Amino acid sequence: PAKDKNPFDDQKRFEYADHVIAVASGKGGVGKSTIAANLAMALARQGKSVGLMDLDVYGPSVPTLFGVVQPPRVEDEHTIYPAEKYGIQIMSFGFFIEQDSPVIWRGPLVMKLVTQFLNDVVWKPMDFLILDLPPGTGDVQLSLVQQLKLDGAVIVTTPQDLALADVKRGANMFEKVHTPVLGIVENMSYFVCPHCGKESYIFSKGGGDRESRRLNVPLLGRIPLTEDVMNASDTGCPIVESAPDSEPAKNFSEIATSL
Ligand code: ADP
Repeated sequence: PAKDKNPFDDQKRFEYADHVIAVASGKGGVGKSTIAANLAMALARQGKSVGLMDLDVYGPSVPTLFGVVQPPRVEDEHTIYPAEKYGIQIMSFGFFIEQDSPVIWRGPLVMKLVTQFLNDVVWKPMDFLILDLPPGTGDVQLSLVQQLKLDGAVIVTTPQDLALADVKRGANMFEKVHTPVLGIVENMSYFVCPHCGKESYIFSKGGGDRESRRLNVPLLGRIPLTEDVMNASDTGCPIVESAPDSEPAKNFSEIATSL
């Protein structure tokens, strides 16, 4: 029947990847890029071919997280070869936007760059494309998820209530465009002391659990707040690659398996 027709049947499929998964968050600073980078890395270590597209116009951090020194090669406007690190194909706004250019100028650039990333980049076929979306649920995000067919979305949150309230908005946005929310990743769930290894719940405990039940989406996993996760990112090698046997790396690996 006509009423069952998905109004977003026109969403374009990204032809180079079998699975396209967006990593989103209600607000900035919750570790969305860190999660996206480590999930991409975990999938790659599980033998999948992986691409990572960093569309976070406000703080494109993927080049730094991966310590990419060789930027994408631009042959001409319609022939761009993605950067590559640890076997992952990488495209990021960060390669094309001056770090200190005002955010207000970036807005109009966004859709143009997205279109280029989708159409003019010579990607190698891959099992998974991970999208690092800008934080929030503004026009940019909406127009993006309306254009591109996503297989699922992962929402990153921290245990603080403010972030959790934003999760609801994110989930609603994906629902609107008929994209399944695969689940929530609770980041900075607890603090692991580098000296004694003791876990402290410095934010409230159980928020991710509560919220995932309320939204009826699975809690895919929890990532602790550790010095190592941050240091790994700062030095351009995500923790999944630099310390694969660490607790956070194992958690990422489990989450990746469920994607
Ligand atoms: P977002 O993409 O949501 O803005 P980022 O991934 O850039 O957030 O993370 C913000 C900061 O927090 C970065 O400095 C990052 O290294 C740090 N960070 C993120 N997750 C963790 C974690 N689990 N443990 C320690 N530091 C983290």
